[in-house]
Amino acid sequence: MKSSSQELKKKQGRMHNKSNRTNFLLHKFDLKKTRVRQGLLHHFMDEPSPQTHLSIHQALQKKIEGVDGVTIYRNLQKFVELGVLHKLPDNKYLLCSHLCKKPTHILFSCIQCGKFWEIDHKSCMNALAKSLNHESVIDQSQPIFLSGVCKQCSEVREH
Ligand SMILES: [Zn+2]
Ligand SMILES: [Zn+2]
Repeated sequence: MKSSSQELKKKQGRMHNKSNRTNFLLHKFDLKKTRVRQGLLHHFMDEPSPQTHLSIHQALQKKIEGVDGVTIYRNLQKFVELGVLHKLPDNKYLLCSHLCKKPTHILFSCIQCGKFWEIDHKSCMNALAKSLNHESVIDQSQPIFLSGVCKQCSEVREH
C-alpha cells in the first residue's frame, strides 16, 4: 500500500502539471486567464475521453459557482477555433494531444468501440496533409478524421 504522503505528492505533481499545461496553452494563444478557461482545460485534462456539452457544463458548475452556459459555450468554440479542443462528428469535445505550434491534427476513430486517438507522427501527418492538399485546402486548426477498426477490436473479431 502506498503511504498517504506519497499519494499526496503524486496528486500535487498532477495538479502542478495541469496548471503548467493550462498556463502554457493560455499564454500560447494570448488568452486571459479566466476561471472558466482554466476550469475547462483542467476538466479536459482530467477526462481523456470525448465530453458532451452537458457533461462539461455539469462538471464546471461544481467547480465555479454561477457559471453560465453561454460563457462555457463561447469558450469551447474559441478553443475549437484555436485547435486546443477538437469537436468530433458526434458533437463531443476532446482535448488536442499536441502542444506544438502548428500541427496538422489527424484523429482516428474506431467504428466498433468509438474510441478516438490523435495520430502523433509528424512525417505521417505531413505526408497525408500534403497529398490531401492537392485536392482541398486544409484548415490546420481543424482535424482530419480517419476511421477504421482499432487493434483491440480487430483482435476480438478474429477470435
Ligand atoms: Zn490535435
Ligand atoms: Zn475499437
